[in-house]
Amino acid sequence: MTKLSLLLKEQTHICKVCFKTYEEKSLHSLLNGYTCICDKCIKRYNPIFKEFTFESLHGLAIYEYIDYIKEKLFQFKGCFDYELCNTFLGPYKNELLFRYHGYIVVPIPSNKDDDLKRGFNHVETIFQSVGFKLTKALEKKGDFKQALHGSKERREISKHLFLINNKIRSNAKILLVDDVITTGATMHKAIELIKTLKPNKIEILIMSKTMLEIRKKK
Ligand SMILES: [Zn+2]
Repeated sequence: MTKLSLLLKEQTHICKVCFKTYEEKSLHSLLNGYTCICDKCIKRYNPIFKEFTFESLHGLAIYEYIDYIKEKLFQFKGCFDYELCNTFLGPYKNELLFRYHGYIVVPIPSNKDDDLKRGFNHVETIFQSVGFKLTKALEKKGDFKQALHGSKERREISKHLFLINNKIRSNAKILLVDDVITTGATMHKAIELIKTLKPNKIEILIMSKTMLEIRKKK
């Protein structure tokens, strides 16, 4: 038996999503390290790696925002199941770190009270779990009514989203990251604020995105 096949043989783990034991058989999973999720569950998450354009900026969505990922995301951020944090992007850790090497990674903030109640910030946790070093350049302040839509939603977000870090150098490459993008109102405001820092480039990385939005933007 070669050294490599011995290493692969030793990779038996418990999947954090379905709790069944599984073996990491592929070279890809071996190189990515312990990803905590079995192949079947990764398939259920349905990775799409969809490139999209948002307000003329390049974006990448790892998953489609389907029921299964919605359910797991709710379990993670709504039911405080912290253990799920590295199941979402863990399998693509190396690809993501390589692709966005040299970018300043800025998470889209969420309501601070929710973070306190939860004990962690879900967006930060998802992206930190794969090794991204985050720069908190934005902050969400005050009570924000999530149920609003359209121009009302944009106005409401404008009142609550602020730039808190202006030390980012003007020619930087910035990667805005979030767990979900639906209406895009928060992303719109975040881009507006980040643009005042005069970065060289802004890109977007989203864990899951509604396909309807992707089709509309095309
Ligand atoms: Zn599983």
